[in-house]
Amino acid sequence: MHIPLLTTSIKLAALALISISSVACSHRTPVKPPKSKSIVSNEAYIPSLALLRRGNQELKEVALTIDDGPHDKWAPTILKALRDNHVHATFFVVGKKVKEHPELVKQMLADGNEVGNHSMNHPRLDSISLAKVKDEIVECHKTVFQETGYRMKLLRPPGLRYTEDILKLGKSLGYTTVEENIAVGDFIVVGDHTWYENNPGFPAHVAKVRFNVFKQLKNGAIIVIHDMPATAAALDSILKGIAERGYKVVTASEMLAHLKNSPVKVGP
Ligand SMILES: [Zn+2]
Repeated sequence: MHIPLLTTSIKLAALALISISSVACSHRTPVKPPKSKSIVSNEAYIPSLALLRRGNQELKEVALTIDDGPHDKWAPTILKALRDNHVHATFFVVGKKVKEHPELVKQMLADGNEVGNHSMNHPRLDSISLAKVKDEIVECHKTVFQETGYRMKLLRPPGLRYTEDILKLGKSLGYTTVEENIAVGDFIVVGDHTWYENNPGFPAHVAKVRFNVFKQLKNGAIIVIHDMPATAAALDSILKGIAERGYKVVTASEMLAHLKNSPVKVGP
């Protein structure tokens, strides 16, 4: 019963293969199979690790998560697309970028979006000591709280690289870790150059990002996109296409609340 996980692994591997020279997520390290895949379970939510792997497959809903921001060039366009389409997303923000643009995080929250912890400096958490992992999570938490008064409860390790000890540490700090099931290659770079708007291949790349979302849509999937130029250009049409296909976009917390074994209490 591990087919969904296997499928995700194959898709991630395929994305790595189709990248032209290297793939990055705001950094320049090659994609490796996420450590998370070694956790053998097909449960949507694993209480002992506070790990959300996917949503309720009986519901035609997908969670939209947006990593690596806030970036002042693209976040405003992304936020406008969310407002225009009347949906909310979960932004996993990087603490050092929050310090640069706290006003964007305030706008995310003012618009009704959710904000989660993507560490202070975006290291691979499985490559540093557990004490340093704690610093990364706590520093990001403090930064967002100081800037906005908001207490984050959701964690996405950069590159989705984690160990069971990291999940348990996150849980002890009050966090639920959120996986991802639909990756779309919006962070693909060519050499040292990201796909910027002035690149001749940019429109085709935007179309590919959109296509990658639509072809993978399924009940309870968690989509990950990034605060980057192709995402900003594609998001409005992605959201319209998701609605046309009959899916509702929810935040990660809403997805968690809709699970049968949800730790979130709903109603009185
Ligand atoms: Zn990231």
